Amino acid sequence: MKIDSKRNFRTKWAVVTDFDGTVTLKDVGDVLLIHFKAATRKEIDLSCAPGVKMKEWMKKYFRPLKIPKKDIEAYVLASARLRGGFREFHKFCAGACVPLEIVSGGVDLYLDCLLKKWGLKVKAFYGRTRFTPKGLLVDYPCMKGSTLDAFKAARVRHYRRLGCRVAFCGDGATDIKAARAADAVFATKRLRTFCQKAGIPNRRLKNFHAVKDFILKNQELTATESEGRQKKAMESKNQLLTFCSFP
Ligand SMILES: [Mg+2]
Repeated sequence: MKIDSKRNFRTKWAVVTDFDGTVTLKDVGDVLLIHFKAATRKEIDLSCAPGVKMKEWMKKYFRPLKIPKKDIEAYVLASARLRGGFREFHKFCAGACVPLEIVSGGVDLYLDCLLKKWGLKVKAFYGRTRFTPKGLLVDYPCMKGSTLDAFKAARVRHYRRLGCRVAFCGDGATDIKAARAADAVFATKRLRTFCQKAGIPNRRLKNFHAVKDFILKNQELTATESEGRQKKAMESKNQLLTFCSFP
């Protein structure tokens, strides 16, 4: 029997995805702010302008929201829609040991109840909220002072350092850095337009079935590619050890 040596190696993929407008069809945070009259459509559009720091923007617009948590959750649970194929994709990743994580500028106020409703047990980074006499406070302790776009890109690079190829899915301006750092990009809305203008190869994110198919099709590696990537991962690991052992 002839053995095809080129098929003896597998590429390890990881997936990093934005949440609002990517895992969900619409930006849940934006829809919520408009519904409860905490922001106008124009203010939402301006949040994507160059120079706007998204974490600060979220803190500013969520703070005056004086709506009980149960009312916000009820609205979100009734209105938010999951993008097609995400539930299946989530199961596929768990079964195939493909790391999947959500990195979002959104907040627990709606992410917690939506992830629970949809039965998604997935590693996720997002903002934390607290109802206080000074208003609804938003914080991003997981990002440790990093900007949102830099943090998303850092998560992509994290998996690349582990020797994975990374597929990134996103829709907005804060996804651009991560898209540049990824091996494959699934983009919609603003991110898609930006990638096309900037010449960043990307595929249209219509649903997550396509992301699954892409990973299944691109798991095969030639022996030479595999050895090259293993060598590179080992070099990165050695560099890290050298750095860590420096007195
Ligand atoms: Mg988004």
